[in-house]
Amino acid sequence: MRVVVDLNRCQAYAQCCYAAPERFVLRGDEILVYDPAPPEAERAAIDRAVLACPVRAIRVEHEPRERAA
Ligand code: SF4
Repeated sequence: MRVVVDLNRCQAYAQCCYAAPERFVLRGDEILVYDPAPPEAERAAIDRAVLACPVRAIRVEHEPRERAA
């Protein structure tokens, strides 16, 4: 899973930090630090963060599943 936050859009509302505190942290008043490659086990928390962001700044890309040979 790949997480991308559009930092031009992000307004530091911190809703993602409440939804997934292990993966999103605000430093100071407005610098968002996040994990761009969280483990699959965090999927539910990341999805909550995506939905919680009031400006829809968080995008998640899922790895394509490996094809069976
Ligand atoms: S919830 Fe959205 S706007 Fe707020 S800090 Fe997170 S990414 Fe930025």
